[in-house]
Amino acid sequence: MRPIALYLHIPYCAQKCGYCDFNSYAFSRRDDHERYLRALEREMERYAALLDETVTVPTVFVGGGTPSLLPADLLERLIRRVYELFPVAPGAEFTVEANPGTLDTEGEKLARARQAGANRVSFGVQAFQDHLLRRLGRLHTVQEVYEAVAAARRAGFANLNLDLMYGLPGQTVADFEESLRAAVGLGPEHISAYSLMIEEGTAFYRLYQEGRLPLPPEEEEEEMDRLAEAVLGAAGYERYEVSNYARPGYRCQHNLNYWRNGEWLGLGAGAHSHLLSPLPRDAAGEVPGAVGLPPGEVRLWNLALPAEYEAAVAAGRWPLAGGEAIDLKGQMEETMILGLRTWEGVGEEEFRARFGRELREVYGPVGERLEREGLLDRSGGRWRLTPRGRRLGNRVWAEFLL
Ligand code: SF4
Repeated sequence: MRPIALYLHIPYCAQKCGYCDFNSYAFSRRDDHERYLRALEREMERYAALLDETVTVPTVFVGGGTPSLLPADLLERLIRRVYELFPVAPGAEFTVEANPGTLDTEGEKLARARQAGANRVSFGVQAFQDHLLRRLGRLHTVQEVYEAVAAARRAGFANLNLDLMYGLPGQTVADFEESLRAAVGLGPEHISAYSLMIEEGTAFYRLYQEGRLPLPPEEEEEEMDRLAEAVLGAAGYERYEVSNYARPGYRCQHNLNYWRNGEWLGLGAGAHSHLLSPLPRDAAGEVPGAVGLPPGEVRLWNLALPAEYEAAVAAGRWPLAGGEAIDLKGQMEETMILGLRTWEGVGEEEFRARFGRELREVYGPVGERLEREGLLDRSGGRWRLTPRGRRLGNRVWAEFLL
């Protein structure tokens, strides 16, 4: 079987957060959602028609933007349509991203999403202090986080993720510790802890340039990272990637596929796909031929603006903005850099099976040097960063560029 994960992008948010550089737009009119969903469903139908019985979809992730901003009936319709169109594997992980401030008080939205077949909710919580949430430009309050988690449990979700952020303007180490403990207190199966990145083009970037963003000093940010590992570890969450922690059995399978450099189809405005070879039933010769690529490993990406994306789909075109072939060198580099983000690392056997080359031969001198410096562990047929290697993250990953 050929596992291809599925990502669906919902580009609307109620308002734009100050730090956000995702492909998201502040809208919440029902008309916008309906028009967009018609286009997304049409794109889903066209891709689904290309898949044959060798393909299986092991994970589905509805992300954004804010998928939970969709009216309850539209969210339910979208989830049901995925099951109708795609060969979703039995027991597949099916995640919907949700903003705690976009749920109805009766919990109808989550209940309908669960009944339709979603089985995991990822909540963008970020912090447990209202003043920090306001500063981030988040829509929700701490109280709404508690209500949202309770609503998700009532709806029958047994797999929840809470996203937290650290290194925020005005955030102290004590604030972050309070957030970690509050998150643990809610008992989710998975917790992500991301450090704030200041991305060009965001409101935070302008404030930063003007010297008006009081970020915690680097040592405090490092302290927050250590604290996350200590507090979450003591509560039974295993760290398995730079920013991700899970109870045993609850690692995010969808994201693990990204880090293992697997295949996925990303549909919707601005979504990216990564395919190792052409889709099985490329009847029209348009995917990925539409962007003139050779039939090997490719990355494709869709038009980012919802209006352009919708117009392309309505005109019967693949809504692609571009694509690129990934040569063997690029494939090996990505496999190492993504894989070493995870604590499982990269297996020598997997590398050989995928590339027909020995990991120790391709990266021999780099591996030996990093091992000597105490940054890499190559025991048991797997290459993993040591705790020291992880602390140096970017510098070590860069060594794997060929
Ligand atoms: S809710 Fe998420 S996607 Fe939307 S603006 Fe905020 S950070 Fe960006």
